Amino acid sequence: MIRYVLALVAAFGTHFAHADEAVFDSHVHLREGESSLRAYEADVAAAHIKLAGFGGMWFGGPNQALQGDPAKIRANNDAHLALAAKHPEMLPIATVHPYDGQDALDELARVAARGVKVLKLHPHTQKFDAADPRVLALVRKAGELGVVVLFDNANILPGDNERLFNVAIQAPKTKFLFAHMGGMNFRFWNILALVRTTEKFFFDNMYFDISATVILAADSPIEDEFVWTLRNVGIDHVVLGSDYPQIPLGKTVDALRRLGLSDDEQAKIRVENALRLFGRTKAQSE
Ligand SMILES: [Zn+2]
Repeated sequence: MIRYVLALVAAFGTHFAHADEAVFDSHVHLREGESSLRAYEADVAAAHIKLAGFGGMWFGGPNQALQGDPAKIRANNDAHLALAAKHPEMLPIATVHPYDGQDALDELARVAARGVKVLKLHPHTQKFDAADPRVLALVRKAGELGVVVLFDNANILPGDNERLFNVAIQAPKTKFLFAHMGGMNFRFWNILALVRTTEKFFFDNMYFDISATVILAADSPIEDEFVWTLRNVGIDHVVLGSDYPQIPLGKTVDALRRLGLSDDEQAKIRVENALRLFGRTKAQSE
């Protein structure tokens, strides 16, 4: 009986401790604007998660190449910014299409002037080649404007990791956030541990969100290797994202908890790194 009570206390103690731990979710798709935002926040509240903020994007889903329609992109970015103005917990993530060339550069500059700090690009759904020179021009411009480039990195396309790595080293002044950390090809990114040991080839501009991949890794045969990778890319360079609505934040936070990282490492990934990377203070997010 005593053992049972102790177990109960331990379980509830743990539960309440977790409820105090704020989370910044860097990867949320708001496909239907305000109604998606409300559904997302209700889902987070139901999971007893204290949200320190979230990165919301309007972009996502099939048939969203959006090339050759800069007016539509502009309208979507504006509607998204209007939504974020009403919800200070939301970090608005804009989108352009790299193949729109000058129109894409102009739109990036326009939204940056309106306070956008993150640009989402998705080679698979937007149907572009990350090795195209128009992509490099765009991400370099983002660096000049202080905009972080969030790239899908689920390795849907062949050579995804290699292409993104190559873009990142050609644009050393731009910060990149690679979503899903390479998916099941996450092992590639251990190369950063070696890159860091070279004197002249030093790049500190790559960050990773572990959305989706963390769920596969937790309690799996590859869990140790995944944790080893997080430490090799640098715990300070890892952020948490859910990829809602595909994956709920509760499931993602739970998977992070099960990796066996230290409390300190978890806190960095759960909230601290994202606030630093996106230049947000806690007060802004609460
Ligand atoms: Zn996504």
